[in-house]
Parts: sequence; structure tokens; C-alpha cells
Amino acid sequence: MQKEYIDVCCPTCGGRAQFHEPFRFSHMMRFSVVPENAHLWGRLVVEELYPEHFSWTQPETDSPVFHRTTNEVGPGYRLNHRGMLECPKCETFQAVQIRWPQAAFWQWTVEGHTLIARNRTHAEEILAYLRETPRPPHRKPGLRELPAPLLKKRASSIACRRMERTLEAA
Ligand SMILES: [Zn+2]
Repeated sequence: MQKEYIDVCCPTCGGRAQFHEPFRFSHMMRFSVVPENAHLWGRLVVEELYPEHFSWTQPETDSPVFHRTTNEVGPGYRLNHRGMLECPKCETFQAVQIRWPQAAFWQWTVEGHTLIARNRTHAEEILAYLRETPRPPHRKPGLRELPAPLLKKRASSIACRRMERTLEAA
């Protein structure tokens, strides 16, 4: 799960940096033997990818629950929060704590509504969807959280132009 990285604003240069989760979560069915140094959380095997920076502590719930934004509350593991930041411009790879989706590199505010993309591929997927007329009624998972007002004709054409500019520049 969550194999794809997210793009965040580098706190040092403001450029595009990649955020890497510090743990890999896989279903235990994928292993015949649990790898050394891995942990079990319910039916998930948790591997520490950067053990020198992050060690696993099980959240206060025996069955795996994940939070994807920093504001979510309750027991569970917070994704998109603590991990490694890799900035090609600063040539750094460091342990950080971020807020998501506030730290997103790909974000646009149009008529008061914020559009967030996890990475370039996701941004291109959103742009392609906004351009389509008529739009397909069933949205892929990555498109379900688009703010409804931005799907209206005027707002979506503004959003498309802004997204095109950012995608060309980055
Ligand atoms: Zn940087």
C-alpha cells in the first residue's frame, strides 16, 4: 500500500521535494517468514525503512487504522506526517515532520477552494479529468476528493489554466 510518494514544498528552498514514508506496510500473506526487524500490526507487517531515524511504535489500536491528513484524530498511524524529505535542489535527505495537505507542492486555490495533488502524475490526472467534457460519471479514487465547486465550468477552466502553468514551470 501507499507505494507512491508525495511531493511537498521543501522547507529550505521552496522547491519540489519528495516525502518518503518511514515504514512499509504489507499484508502478512505476502511473507512466508516475517522479515527480521519487522513488526506485526494486526495482519500487517511493518518494516522500518530508515531505522536510524524512525523506529516503529504501534498506535493504540490492535487493528490497523491509517490517517492520511494531519488533522485527523483518534488512534491510528498518521501517514504523510513523519518521514524523510528528499530535495534534489538542496541535495538533502533528512528526517522531517510535515503537515498534510498543507505542505503539498501541487496545490492551487481557485475561488476560495483548494485543489491538492499528491504528485505530478496525480496533478496530470486531475487536469485531464477537469478538461473532459462531458466528464465521466464515475471517478477514479484519486479524483473523488475534488472540491465540487471547482467542477463547474468557469472555475474548472481557471483551475486548468493555473495547473497548466505550474506543470509547465515545474
Ligand atoms: Zn530544497
